[in-house]
Amino acid sequence: MAEFNTQSDIRELRSAVREFIKEEKLNGTFTVRCDASISGFSPEFSKKLAKKGWIGMTIPKKYGGQEKSNLERYVVLEEILSKGAPVSAHWVADRQTAPLLLKFGTEEQKIKYLPSICKGELYFAIGLSEPNSGSDLASISTKAEDKGDYWLLNGSKIWTTGAHHAHFILVLCRTSPKNEKNKYEGMSQIIVDLKSPGVTIRPVHLMTGEHEFNEVFFEDVKVPKENLVGVAGNGWQQGLTELAFERSGPERFLSTYPLLEELIEIVKSEGNVQSDLQDLGSCIASLVTLRKMSLEVASLLEQKKTPNTEAAMVKDLGTQLENRIIHTARNTASIYPSLDSDKRIEVYAAQSILHSPGFTLRGGTTEILRTIISKGVMNNG
Ligand SMILES: Cc1cc2nc3c(=O)[nH]c(=O)nc-3n(C[C@H](O)[C@H](O)[C@H](O)COP(=O)(O)OP(=O)(O)OC[C@H]3O[C@@H](n4cnc5c(N)ncnc54)[C@H](O)[C@@H]3O)c2cc1C
Repeated sequence: MAEFNTQSDIRELRSAVREFIKEEKLNGTFTVRCDASISGFSPEFSKKLAKKGWIGMTIPKKYGGQEKSNLERYVVLEEILSKGAPVSAHWVADRQTAPLLLKFGTEEQKIKYLPSICKGELYFAIGLSEPNSGSDLASISTKAEDKGDYWLLNGSKIWTTGAHHAHFILVLCRTSPKNEKNKYEGMSQIIVDLKSPGVTIRPVHLMTGEHEFNEVFFEDVKVPKENLVGVAGNGWQQGLTELAFERSGPERFLSTYPLLEELIEIVKSEGNVQSDLQDLGSCIASLVTLRKMSLEVASLLEQKKTPNTEAAMVKDLGTQLENRIIHTARNTASIYPSLDSDKRIEVYAAQSILHSPGFTLRGGTTEILRTIISKGVMNNG
């Protein structure tokens, strides 16, 4: 159970994180950047956060976590992301692998993986998308055959963020042939050590030239039987839980926040504006609303619910806001976005623009999210 927390606990936690980030920034540990949950890789910073107890916050103490509430975790994430701190190393493991293992993993898996995740030392990648299966994830063809004492894995995954840094990948694969009447059956989730023989990782570069994505190939990879997570054949249902963790967090609307903050500073200090400030005000109002919605999802997760529809709404509206912030910055201030600029706002604008095509794709595209929302709303009458 999460420890009881009061408004003053939350305020104290927020100011502790703020103070820590400020000091780290002053010490030059990191350079603020947009979309830091994808691009800010720093094992040292991850370990420092873990020492503070800010990774694995909701994981029980017996597995190395802090047994804190989702609200406390939310506060920490909000402070870290809005300041563009480098968290990509541990991001996936902390956000979705750890809670998934807690929910579906065996006791042995919890003991094996959770403590190292909580120390900020063990990283996971997400193995869902395939070259011919993105939105229609149930069409995946990567398969694991039951060979008695191991699974034999063949296939490939694409757009695998951070696989070149990660220790393990959680792979969604077919463990039974596709049933045309129910394509969601027969999928399973298995943990694959990325150092296993037969695994090849190839980079896919971003427009910025950064190496964040990969293609991962599995050729006759022998995966220990005990690496199956949950129940064989139940991978689809388990994966849905993972997606609720993936879609609802503040990273879904804070990717371009450093740009917004810089824009506000410029408007305050220079009054260097090209148009009226209505768009800027509208972005800030949307941010406040989204924050409330996202907090509501955190509270539903706290109640052990799976708020898929709500999470889809946060992600859809959040990515719209992220893009609106870019347009507002370009329309409001006189800026020339460039990664090489000596003006912070121009660097943040360039980072945001070059990363923005991914905002509405990752974690589910806009069209798919809106389908989920419409079905969810209809089902709830
Ligand atoms: C920054 C980033 C990080 C990512 N990280 C990972 C990761 O770590 N691991 C991982 O597994 N994947 C990752 N992905 C992949 C991501 O999940 C997929 O890009 C996404 O699911 C869409 O799949 P796709 O790219 O194959 O596009 P497609 O599914 O081919 O879609 C192309 C277009 O068609 C539309 N479309 C498709 N089907 C429908 C439909 N039924 N109705 C209406 N419109 C439809 C889509 O909305 C989209 O506009 C990442 C992607 C990005 C951009």
